[in-house]
Amino acid sequence: MIDFSMDPADVALRDKVRSFVRERIIPYERDPRLTSHGPTDDLRRELNALAREAGLLAPHVSSHYGGLGLNHVQRAIVFEAAGYSTLGPIALHCAAPDEGNMHMLEVVASPQQREAYLRPLAQGDMRSCFAMTEPQPGAGADPGQLLTRADREGDHFVISGKKWLITGAEGAGFAIVMARAFDGQQELGPTMFLARLPDPGFQITRTIDSIDASFTGGHGEIALTGLRVHKDDVLGEVGQGLRYAQIRLAPARLTHCMRWLGAAVRAHDIATEYAMRRKAFGTTLLQHEGVGFMLADNEIELHMCRLAILDVAWRLDQGENGRHASSMAKVFVSEALFRVADRCMQVLGGMGVTADTQVERIFREIRAFRIYDGPSEVHRWAIANRIARTKAAP
Ligand SMILES: Cc1cc2nc3c(=O)[nH]c(=O)nc-3n(C[C@H](O)[C@H](O)[C@H](O)COP(=O)(O)OP(=O)(O)OC[C@H]3O[C@@H](n4cnc5c(N)ncnc54)[C@H](O)[C@@H]3O)c2cc1C
Repeated sequence: MIDFSMDPADVALRDKVRSFVRERIIPYERDPRLTSHGPTDDLRRELNALAREAGLLAPHVSSHYGGLGLNHVQRAIVFEAAGYSTLGPIALHCAAPDEGNMHMLEVVASPQQREAYLRPLAQGDMRSCFAMTEPQPGAGADPGQLLTRADREGDHFVISGKKWLITGAEGAGFAIVMARAFDGQQELGPTMFLARLPDPGFQITRTIDSIDASFTGGHGEIALTGLRVHKDDVLGEVGQGLRYAQIRLAPARLTHCMRWLGAAVRAHDIATEYAMRRKAFGTTLLQHEGVGFMLADNEIELHMCRLAILDVAWRLDQGENGRHASSMAKVFVSEALFRVADRCMQVLGGMGVTADTQVERIFREIRAFRIYDGPSEVHRWAIANRIARTKAAP
């Protein structure tokens, strides 16, 4: 039997987050501390304080670390409500990259690492970043192209290389750095390292101008020049970095879907309200079939996105790794939400491209989601490979 009903406690939590975002967070959307490289850390802390006061900070983290211990289905419900403002996930401290890092630390880190890194992160006392991608010719869509090296020297690893597009690097209290570990000539494999920041071996050479502006700390380009990390700060086991990346990315790409779904719902609400009010050729825009159909398509795709997200969330809660389903959901949701945002902009006419409504902002933010956490083409390619493996000709 498939039961689509929601637990009343989850409904109550969703409604609480909805009210919190509408009443306490949306008023900050014109705050001068919103820069082209994301909300300043000062603003982030102020928003976190509001969420903490409301009992909503880091709701995905277990209660041992101060969160609400939400499962994946509950996250889907709460993160969508938070995403109704692009500042909502920042306030609740469930935005990327921190949210994915918290999840991975809970699963992979040692008890000592969890106390040293996860606890202050979960409490909002610090931010973090995840440094995997490298400039050409290094790791990108293909993480196998990883070039950054970590050479063992006694009890330390010494890391050298380049990273870029590292969200939240500026102002982060620590980085999770992916590097190829070596012991002398022997390669030990891709490994994750926990590096305290700031550190002279981790230089932010620039914060990159980009289409989006939702993430505190922007997107950094990093020069790793002899960054020393003690062996106790290897995350999990040496050589298991790519496996841990999957532990992080399968749920992380789904939580992006949840948050951006909330943002697209907001854009749709704005466009709908405009279409009901604005008149052209003697009637409201909504009465024109061309506009009504755009809004109808939005409703259809928002609903389909929500169902796809809940399906993967449920699978993750059952203990499945959800790789195939989350790939499908990531492609569908990222592309459908972009279509929704695009239609909203069209319905708003000239106002759509101005910063007078949140639609312009949401349109820009959602575009990048078709690239990070796996470009659509890479997911389609991985899905096709699985089809080939599971349905091989006899
Ligand atoms: C806003 C934003 C935030 C990010 N934050 C982080 C972060 O915090 N940490 C981090 O480590 N990285 C981050 N990234 C980097 C992101 O993970 C990479 O951009 C992504 O993995 C793609 O790598 P690439 O940009 O090097 O593209 P490339 O590897 O150069 O690929 C370019 C394009 O080639 C195509 N392509 C590649 N492989 C295939 C294939 N097999 N079949 C068909 N087509 C293919 C795709 O269309 C792809 O978009 C971020 C990126 C963005 C845009």
